[in-house]
Amino acid sequence: LEEQLRQAQKMESVGRLAGGVAHDFNNKLSVILGYAELIKLQYPAAQKLQEQLDAIQQAAEHSRDITAQLLTFSRKQLIRPQPMNLSAALQATQKTLPRLIGEDITLSYQLSDQLWRVLIDPIQLDQIVMNLAVNARDAMPQGGSLRISTDNVRVEDPDLLEPFEAPPGDYVRMVFSDTGTGMTGEVRRHIFEPFFTTKETGKGTGLGLATIYGIVVQNHGLITVESEPDRGTSFLIFLPREAEALTQAPEPAALPLPGKE
Ligand code: ADP
Repeated sequence: LEEQLRQAQKMESVGRLAGGVAHDFNNKLSVILGYAELIKLQYPAAQKLQEQLDAIQQAAEHSRDITAQLLTFSRKQLIRPQPMNLSAALQATQKTLPRLIGEDITLSYQLSDQLWRVLIDPIQLDQIVMNLAVNARDAMPQGGSLRISTDNVRVEDPDLLEPFEAPPGDYVRMVFSDTGTGMTGEVRRHIFEPFFTTKETGKGTGLGLATIYGIVVQNHGLITVESEPDRGTSFLIFLPREAEALTQAPEPAALPLPGKE
């Protein structure tokens, strides 16, 4: 519980930081990128200078990725949940995901054609899918397989519900299973914390799963992970069936943070 509280407080402070700073920061980064480009154009023949400016641009671009993630994470944007069929939405990723994960990873789907509808903002769903797919890809540098599935489930397991203070009920389950590196228990404990990453600098922001966590909670859902080192990882996301979601608070609830305004 103490761990959860610590995480909630960290999420809250990051959210505040993000809302206030990320936007300005992004503008400054655009200035840096713009001037670096201008100087490059003025000295096309200066090989060394070109390389150094490339390095500046790369660093600024990476920083911009981080601020973009921060803005997403801070949940400042307006969200528009709508009734969605996750099977249909995931079916459509058959065209886009292969480009993202590369040829060495076999992508397969097991999508229920009788799926209950859920309420979610399609942009947020996209963020969940993209982040899970990128993580799966990064966990399988030598190739492997990524399986995406959906089904309807009745959730009554208190171990699953209690951390989210969610009621038992009908949920749609979406699972991303990879055959990658997996995680140790120690890593698994921290993955939803903002800025936690095991990826080398410049590769990960540590905001992907924190963002997903925020989105799932905002939509009254549940998220859990099963992982074994060298075997692989499955992320399980549960979203309430539309009929049940509609009987809940009409406004999507914010993260259950202590002392939030
Ligand atoms: P990032 O991807 O930028 O590191 P995330 O919040 O998305 O940030 O992930 C945090 C960490 O969780 C990763 O650095 C990695 O250690 C671990 N992780 C996430 N997804 C997987 C996965 N599918 N397999 C193994 N480890 C994972």
